[in-house]
Amino acid sequence: VKILAIESSCDETSAAVVVNGREVLSNVIYSQIDIHTLYGGVVPEIASRKHIEKITQVIRQALKEAGCTLDDIDAVAVTYGPGLVGALLVGVGAAKAIAFAKNIPLVGVHHIEGHIAANYIENRDLEPPFMCLVVSGGHTHLVKVVDYGKFEILGVTRDDAAGEAFDKVARAIGLGYPGGPKIDRKAKEGNPDAIEFPRAKVAESVYDFSFSGLKSAVLNYINQAHMRNEYINEADVAASFQKAVTEVLTEHAVAAAKEFKMDKIAIAGGVASNSALRASMKTACEKAGLKLYHPSPILCTDNAAMIGAAGYYEYINGTRHGWDLNAIPNLKLGER
Ligand code: ATP
Ligand code: MG
Ligand code: FE
Repeated sequence: VKILAIESSCDETSAAVVVNGREVLSNVIYSQIDIHTLYGGVVPEIASRKHIEKITQVIRQALKEAGCTLDDIDAVAVTYGPGLVGALLVGVGAAKAIAFAKNIPLVGVHHIEGHIAANYIENRDLEPPFMCLVVSGGHTHLVKVVDYGKFEILGVTRDDAAGEAFDKVARAIGLGYPGGPKIDRKAKEGNPDAIEFPRAKVAESVYDFSFSGLKSAVLNYINQAHMRNEYINEADVAASFQKAVTEVLTEHAVAAAKEFKMDKIAIAGGVASNSALRASMKTACEKAGLKLYHPSPILCTDNAAMIGAAGYYEYINGTRHGWDLNAIPNLKLGER
C-alpha cells in the first residue's frame, strides 16, 4: 500500500510517500523556522500563508523523489489535528482535493499518533504493545500503545509541555528560537549539577508531569543574578535545567513500563532528539532490562513520513474520512 502523506499542523510543510507504513520513499520537509525566528515563536497567520505557498511544491517534490505519480498512490493520509487551525486546513484541503480527484481513500491522522509511529520507520521489529513517552512542543504524554492506533494515556503535563519549557528557558537565557536544539548544544559545555532546580512531582497522579515550576525557578535564578549584577553561566543553567527535565521524564517512563509489564519503551516528538534525554533513557533502560527505541532526529520533529506510517495502520484498520473532514485544533489522542 503506497500512501501519500501530508503534514501542515504547525510550521513545517511536509509531504511523503510511504510504503506499508515503514518504507519511506520520500520525505520532503519545508521548515518555516527562519521566518518565525524573527518573532521569537510561531506566528499562526504567517504559518498558514506559507503553507499555502509551499504545499503544492512540496507534494510535487515528494512524488518526484519517490519516482511516482498520483496514479501510483493508494490513499492520502493527512494530519487533521491537533495544531493551528489555519495551518491544518491547508494540508486537509490539499489532501481532500487529491483524494477526490483520484477517487482514492482519505485518511485523517492524529498528529501525535504520527509522532509515535515515527518509531516504526527505522525500527522494523517494533510492534505494539510498548510504552511511549511523547515529548513535543505542545504535548507531554506518557502513553501505553496497546495496539496500532489504540492508546491509553497514563499521564499528561498539567501545565507546560517539555518542548515548551525548553523554548521558554532558551528565550530567557537569550539563546533564541527554537530553544530545544540550542539548549541541547549549550548544555554540552556546562555542568548539569551546578544548580539544583526543582523536580516537580504531581501529588495525585504518579505519571503526570509539571514543568511550569521548573521554568519559573530558572527565570527566578536568572532575574536574581541580574539584580545582583552577577555573571550567569548560561551553559550551567542550560545543563542543569536539561537534567531536571530529562530526569523526571526518564523516571516516569521507566516506572510506567515496569508497572504495566512492558519490555519496550519508545520516545517520540521533537524533544526525543535531545541528547541528554536519549542518554538518560539509555542508561535507565539498560539497568531495567528494557529495550529503547527512538527515531532519528529528522523524524522526531514534524514531518509527513510519520503521518504516512500512522496513516497506513489507520488505513489497514479501516479508517476512512469523508469530504467533510475538518481541521480539529484540539483533537484528543484516540478520538476520531
Ligand atoms: P506538537 O507535536 O505537540 O503539536 P510541535 O509539532 O511544535 O508540537 P515538535 O515538532 O514535535 O513539536 O517538536 C518541536 C519541539 O521540540 C520544540 O519545542 C523544540 O524546542 C523541541 N526540540 C527539538 N529538538 C530538541 C532538542 N535537541 N532538545 C530539546 N528539545 C528539542
Ligand atoms: Mg515545528
Ligand atoms: Fe509535532
